[in-house]
Amino acid sequence: MKETIERFKKQYFPEVSNQDWNSWHWQLKNRFVQPNSLKKVFNLSATEWSAINSTQCRLPISITPYYAAVIQATQESRILQKTVIPDEEEFVRMPDESIDPLIEKEYSPVPNIVHRYPNRVLFLTTQNCAVYCRYCTRSRMVGDDEYHITPEQWQEGINYIKNHTEIHDVIVSGGDPLYLTDGKIEGILSQLRQIKHVQIIRLGTKIPITLPQRITDEWVEMLRRFHPVYLSLHVIHPSEITEEVKISLAKLADAGIVMGSQTVLLRGINDQPEILVDLMEKLLCCRVRPYALFICDPVVGSLRFRTTLQTGLTLIEHLRKNLSGYGVPQLIVDPPGGKVALSPSSIISRNKGGYVLKNGCGEEIYYSESSLA
Ligand SMILES: *Cc1c(COP(=O)(O)O)cnc(C)c1O
Repeated sequence: MKETIERFKKQYFPEVSNQDWNSWHWQLKNRFVQPNSLKKVFNLSATEWSAINSTQCRLPISITPYYAAVIQATQESRILQKTVIPDEEEFVRMPDESIDPLIEKEYSPVPNIVHRYPNRVLFLTTQNCAVYCRYCTRSRMVGDDEYHITPEQWQEGINYIKNHTEIHDVIVSGGDPLYLTDGKIEGILSQLRQIKHVQIIRLGTKIPITLPQRITDEWVEMLRRFHPVYLSLHVIHPSEITEEVKISLAKLADAGIVMGSQTVLLRGINDQPEILVDLMEKLLCCRVRPYALFICDPVVGSLRFRTTLQTGLTLIEHLRKNLSGYGVPQLIVDPPGGKVALSPSSIISRNKGGYVLKNGCGEEIYYSESSLA
């Protein structure tokens, strides 16, 4: 992997110094955006090429040179490529799909706050990401400059949180909040920390994966001043866990940031048991606790990625058998009314004296409650 990334840099950016390559600003400035530059780097199918040139895309296309190199370095590079390059299939709208599948707008009391559960809120701080995922659940606003989130709107969100003492957990998300400058993130966090009832702050981000250069020593030093800080890491495939990513995650873990993963289950990308076991083991080694495996939301154009709930349940059963308990995420489906955690049924039958249960290895065992009856 390391050599392939090196080779990619030599081939497409021969004049660029390592210092520039390792700078997150350089990476953002040199993202692959235009059809012709995408064509030079990626092996595109006819339907991908036509989608790239279409005006129908709801999300922009943008891929950091680093992440492009990771895609090239994976054995089946088309797998990861599919998640960031549009395809004509993206323009198909199925009857069960929606532009806002979680009806977040209905739960938004002020712009960019989603308050669906009493004690926690989602706070959308930017519409931008470093790299756009084609299955994005928030594609109604993400990457859309007309949706530009302003500092005045941050203030409105912060005031809302201040006025609602029941909010104990703020999920700073977007877009990707790590896209913002150090100063802006510091501004938001320090205001949130001044609110007495806010206990934990979570950052929801994919940037440690698509732009690990963003995790600088200075930024991590700043972050740790706002503890307890949690980070929810969007990660989908074991090939994403490169040396660069390992170093960045180690910095965050060393600074005491508690990290959990969020993986979207994607058909043909990561819906194989071996791929998920490999991913979860790699995450555990990076001190990231697998937190959620999400059923892909039925956002418009997501048909090519969606799996059935049964696929998720079968995979979770496999993970239970083959991983440390710490490595098994919750399987989550997010219908409009709110998240539901699904588990394969472990109660087979029940009688007066107890239960017939199925354990993690699939064996039936009897659990007695006769003395409690
Ligand atoms: C997912 C989500 C949360 C966080 O849920 P947890 O189960 O605490 O991780 C909070 N608010 C909204 C609107 C969400 O969609």
